[in-house]
Amino acid sequence: MSEKFSQDKLDRCISCGYCLPACPTYQLTGAEESSPRGRITLMRAVQSGKLEPENLLAESGFCLGCRACEPVCPAGVEYGVLLEEAREILWQGKNRPLIIRGLFLIVGNKLGMKLLGLLSPMAKERKSNPELHLMLGCFERRLYPDVSKAAAKLAPEVSVCKEQGCCGALHAHNGELEKGKEMARQLGEQLPGTIITTAGGCAAHLSSVIGRDRVKEFSEYWSTKESSVSKVQNNGHTIRVGLQDSCHLRNGMGVTQEPREILKQLGDYVEIPNAGGCCGAAGSYSLLQKPNSRKVVSQKVKDIAALNLDYVATVNPGCTRQLVTELRRAKVKTKVIHLAELVAMGIK
Ligand code: SF4
Ligand code: SF4
Repeated sequence: MSEKFSQDKLDRCISCGYCLPACPTYQLTGAEESSPRGRITLMRAVQSGKLEPENLLAESGFCLGCRACEPVCPAGVEYGVLLEEAREILWQGKNRPLIIRGLFLIVGNKLGMKLLGLLSPMAKERKSNPELHLMLGCFERRLYPDVSKAAAKLAPEVSVCKEQGCCGALHAHNGELEKGKEMARQLGEQLPGTIITTAGGCAAHLSSVIGRDRVKEFSEYWSTKESSVSKVQNNGHTIRVGLQDSCHLRNGMGVTQEPREILKQLGDYVEIPNAGGCCGAAGSYSLLQKPNSRKVVSQKVKDIAALNLDYVATVNPGCTRQLVTELRRAKVKTKVIHLAELVAMGIK
């Protein structure tokens, strides 16, 4: 059997199990096969030909791809890459979910991306610094156009190119790894110099392909600017605000303090319990695994409700969508807002 997974990445795992307590799906089931270690064992069996790849299909879908298993791993296992490789093997033909096929069709070509932009009034095209560009994302430009508008307003030195494509994270995470890398390379050529993104998931994928030095997530970039903000007020009081981390920004890029420091300037910052834990959005997961996605987010919704926050700030559009949906379902009044929009409120 030809090699399916990167053997060196499989070999790194020493089966210590340190990753188990960090894994949300292991927390849900307590089953070894739903843990990072268990999935790597299954991958090894597929690699050696002892197991048919189809036996890994269910777990490749159940795993959130949150990469919470990576920072806690003493052996430096790149689990996220192994999961991408598993989905590239398995999520082909009839195994590729219909929703994913539809999403690929939209973001994988120029017309689809243009339509997404035409449907929403996102940041306007402009030529500022030719070596500094704002990334507009694919679904973020359609669902949350105010995010790019806020970022563009806060950073007038940044160029905005409306013709830009998608970074390919959606493809890379859902069975089209090589296409996803190619899309990232193309975006890197289209937007020379530094790319600023308001989506943690996109930042992690893009930086893994074109280089960490070329990508700055919004909170990282804003932290380097010498700008002061005022405390945001709501009904006569300073806002109480918490943060939902982006899994890939936190676990893939190690960015955790920048958004917190910014929020402390904008209001009374409250750390949400397990703020770094996945909210269950996980890219396409909330669409493909709705019941499990809701199980993952349920405690977080209770925690947010108990804190009586005015806002939960997000740094990734998938988290915004998930928390808006689930807080509304639970009738929690806390508003969900992207960090860039909240900073813009502090500048007024
Ligand atoms: S993935 Fe890392 S933490 Fe988990 S069992 Fe393997 S070596 Fe240990
Ligand atoms: S990516 Fe997340 S859900 Fe998947 S094995 Fe790692 S910690 Fe568990």
